[in-house]
Amino acid sequence: MPIPQLVDPFNRAVSYLRVSVTDRCDFRCFYCMSEDMTFLPKKELLTLEELDRMCSAFVDMGVTKLRITGGEPLVRKGIMTFFDSMSRHLASGALKELTLTTNASQLARFAQPLFDAGVRRINVSLDTLDEQKFKEITRWGRFGQVMDGVDAADKAGLKIKINMVALKGTNDDELHDMVAWCGARGFDLTMIEVMPMGDMGGVDRLEQYWPLCDVRKALESRWTVEDIALNTGGPAKYARIGETGGRVGFITPLTHNFCESCNRVRLTCTGQLFLCLGQEDEADLRAALRGFEGNEALNAAIIAAIARKPKGHDFDYSRQEIEGEVSRHMNHTGG
Ligand code: SAM
Ligand code: SF4
Repeated sequence: MPIPQLVDPFNRAVSYLRVSVTDRCDFRCFYCMSEDMTFLPKKELLTLEELDRMCSAFVDMGVTKLRITGGEPLVRKGIMTFFDSMSRHLASGALKELTLTTNASQLARFAQPLFDAGVRRINVSLDTLDEQKFKEITRWGRFGQVMDGVDAADKAGLKIKINMVALKGTNDDELHDMVAWCGARGFDLTMIEVMPMGDMGGVDRLEQYWPLCDVRKALESRWTVEDIALNTGGPAKYARIGETGGRVGFITPLTHNFCESCNRVRLTCTGQLFLCLGQEDEADLRAALRGFEGNEALNAAIIAAIARKPKGHDFDYSRQEIEGEVSRHMNHTGG
């Protein structure tokens, strides 16, 4: 019997799975983690073989795009085994894209093996080009190591998109430098609004919040910004910078709701499936995976979960207070 495809109650086909392969990270970005984060005991994590089985079940049900994230995916021990194994779905044509989001700290080592496994595009999170500011944002990160990683990825032939979280009072003065740098290096740039995730440790996200409509106005004061009809399968809206020819994407969960075209779900490293980044509702797939040798129970659990996918999230800063906040940290669900 053919396995049913994944369509949610709002008739959205789920074709994109993001997988957090670890909650651990070698950085402690202040908007993502507290400095003294406690991580999950290793035994809670899906093994690499279990991750393979889980992802393959989704691919069998019509997922065509797989993004590996975390935590920092490249600090997970043995992670290349997983990428190498997933490349069989690229070879068969079932999977159209295997990609990852990374802080680039380990790319000097992994860029070439990733390319060899079939990865062609990667997202690199980089909020600043200033070494000192980089230290303040990431707390533990080393800027030189990240730049080496970016260079290695470029050299290996990976297409790079830089993700920059727009942080008022932190990197707002670097917007033009970042656009110029990305343009010169041939990287796309995506701006992301800071989201009210995690415990926030007394940090006021409203203070940091720099709406992308304002970012856009700042861009237009210096560059020629033309909207383009590019759809990369994600929530970003794109524009082209006339002077550099580079593209800038805007991910606006707060100023513009993008839920109506949502095609994705997120799997945590413990096998919980989140149907929406901004809602607490989750489905435990690990029990169905571990309890049975065949995939029948797992497939049924996936289908039942997709049938519960909510219409959208409720993040809202518009009344000058944070609403719709979720207590999970981004490294748990995978950004
Ligand atoms: N460690 C990898 C990295 O940094 O690229 C992958 C995981 S990280 C959680 C994925 C993305 O989430 C990063 O681009 C990061 O900037 C973003 N992120 C983390 N916390 C966020 C928040 N509170 N609001 C918006 N974006 C956030
Ligand atoms: Fe680590 Fe990425 Fe979170 Fe920064 S944003 S702490 S690099 S998981």
